[in-house]
This record gives sequence, C-alpha cells and structure tokens, in this order.
Amino acid sequence: MTDKVLVTGGTGFLGMQMLLQLLNKGYDVRTTVRSLKSKDKVLTTLRNNEVSNLDRLSFIEADLSKDDNWEAAMADRDYVLSVASPVFFEIPKDESEVIRPAIEGIIRILKAATRTKVKRVVMTSNFGAVGFTNQDWQTVTTEKDWTDENAKGLSAYEKSKLLAEKAAWKFIETEGNGLEFATINPVAIFGPSLDSHVSGSFDLLKGIASGSMKMIPNIQLNVVDVRDVVDLHIRAMTTPGAAGQRFIASTDGMISMPEIAALIRKERPQLAEQVSKRTMPNGLLKIASHFNATAKEGQFMAEMNRNVSNAKAREILGWKPIGTKEDAVLTAVESLLKYDLV
Ligand code: NAP
Repeated sequence: MTDKVLVTGGTGFLGMQMLLQLLNKGYDVRTTVRSLKSKDKVLTTLRNNEVSNLDRLSFIEADLSKDDNWEAAMADRDYVLSVASPVFFEIPKDESEVIRPAIEGIIRILKAATRTKVKRVVMTSNFGAVGFTNQDWQTVTTEKDWTDENAKGLSAYEKSKLLAEKAAWKFIETEGNGLEFATINPVAIFGPSLDSHVSGSFDLLKGIASGSMKMIPNIQLNVVDVRDVVDLHIRAMTTPGAAGQRFIASTDGMISMPEIAALIRKERPQLAEQVSKRTMPNGLLKIASHFNATAKEGQFMAEMNRNVSNAKAREILGWKPIGTKEDAVLTAVESLLKYDLV
C-alpha cells in the first residue's frame, strides 16, 4: 500500500524539494500551505522540474498560528514531515512574538498527530538547536549536544528553533501517547533550488558572489545539500530505529567564507571579477562586534566549533551525502545564476 505523507510548508525552499522527492518515489503526498493561492506556483515549479506522479499531490490550508485544518490535514496520513517554521533574519522588536509561532506550531502539529493516529512525525529542526554554543574546537559536536538557550548572541530565529524542538521532545515524553518522533538538524542548506525562491542561508552566498561583501570574514561554516536533507527526512521517517532520535544533517568537514569566495572565483569565472579577495582580519570582526549587531552575530558564528559529526545519520540511517561541501556551494551558486539572483 502507498504510504501517505503530510509535508507542512510546501511553498518553501526545502518543502518543495521534499514534495519533488516524495512524489518521485511514489508516495501519496499532501502539503499544507498558508494560502491555496500558492498552489499554482508550487505545481508550476514541480512541473518545471519534471516531477512524476503529480496526481498524487493534494493541498490544504493551515497556519502554524491557528488550529484550523490540522486534524483534517493529517486524518488519513501515516507520516508527517514538519518542515514549516517562521524563517527570519532581522532582529525583532519583541523576541517572544516571533518565537511563539514556532513553538505553538509544532505543539499544534503533535497534538493533531496524536489524535489522528499518525505513526511518526519528523521535525525539521536546526543545527542551531545542537551546537551553536559549543566553542571548544578540541571537541566534536554530536546530537547529544544542546545549544544554551540563554547564550548572548544567539539569534531569535535560532532560539525559536531550539525552543520549539525542546517543547516538542517534552510533549512527546509527557503527552505523546506512543507517537513516534525524530528531528533533523540541518546546518546551512545549500544545493540547487527548484525556482527563484531560495533559502535565507543563500544570502551569505549572494553577498560573496555579487561582490556586495567587500571584506570577507574568516568564518568557518558547515553546509549541506538540500537534496541530502530531504533524503535524510525520508530515511528518518521510514527507518524503525530512527524513532526518538535527532540527526545532524551536514556534509563532511567545514568550509570558510574566504574559501567559498576562492571557490567561486575559480569555478565560476563569470563572477570572478566581482568576488572580493579581501579577508577581514579576525581582530576587526571582534572590535566591530561591540558596536554592530551583524558583526556581533558574525563573531558568535566565528567562535562556534565547526567540528561536526554526521556519523549517526550514516550509521543508523545508511545516509550518505551525494557530494562534497564544494558541490553544495557550487550548485547553490548555479541556482543564483540561473534565476538571476546575483
Ligand atoms: P523557507 O523557504 O522560508 O520556508 C519556510 C516555510 O514555512 C514556508 O513554506 C512558509 O510558508 C512556512 N511558514 C512560515 N511561517 C508559517 C506559519 N506561521 N504557518 C504555516 N507555514 C509557515 O525556508 P526553508 O529554508 O525552506 O526552511 C524550511 C525549514 O528548514 C524550516 O523549519 C527551517 O527552520 C529549517 N532549516 C533551514 C535551514 C536553511 O539553511 N535553509 C537550515 C536549518 C533548518 P509561506 O510560503 O506561506 O511563507
């Protein structure tokens, strides 16, 4: 029998890739959108990417901030992939205002899933819930780690993901009623986009590739291809041993922003002229971090231990990234070029 999956947030960068892979694998897929007005755009994007089995896709309106339709969305579903979450990078006036929908949204989803007897929910969490406050570069960050929610410099967005994941595990422990649950914790997601809607993490690449970043801070990053993130969700959804587990989604190793700039200059010569060759001295970032919110966030990122293990996903789920960190960056840059975003 065909497994039935609900994907929340089918309009998103990751959500659309999720729909594409699930349909191509033959699943019966329903997706939530905040407005059914988005339906045609999603269908057009999927068609433009040669999707199979489009007749197996249905849409339903649901908002993380409202109770309406969540149970109807899950009524006949075996699995839920909880992808939707507010994604924002500006510094909010009131942090709790932007954090609340993330926490309340996942609890709404878990409550509806327990009532409708869904087998398993896989939540797209974030590496921000795992390793953002580990500054000890002699250690390796694993799924056992949790970011300190009170750390100075943790952005409201990362905090929203951290608190939502914590609330979800607490719910599963106390009110889960046998509902299986797992989380995927991706680092910065790159790789190809299916249309001109790219994820917030692409802003950094845009800054480098467009030349608007005049001096490139020497910050190390972990990256992952969006197709690998989808693959990991599907494996976590179907592998018996994945229930009750968190999985970091990251390709092997780390790559610094100056290395990304050098890579773009070498492999995408049409952009070489505009990509800055100037690396920001570490001391300058530190000084600027006392006066400027973006530099403060940069300094926080610079101090974060980037020795990150993806061994758990490999061992329990048999997951294997399709490419290197360089491939993830270059396919993302390719999309920026393809959709005239740089
Ligand atoms: P995205 O393109 O901005 O997608 C976010 C999705 O969430 C959209 O479908 C959006 O719907 C939906 N959404 C936002 N607020 C909602 C609400 N109140 N009710 C219902 N739906 C809502 O971002 P993305 O990069 O694909 O992110 C997808 C997931 O991956 C998120 O959970 C994000 O935290 C996580 N993640 C992303 C990265 C990354 O580097 N991109 C890294 C780690 C984790 P609308 O189209 O209606 O706005």
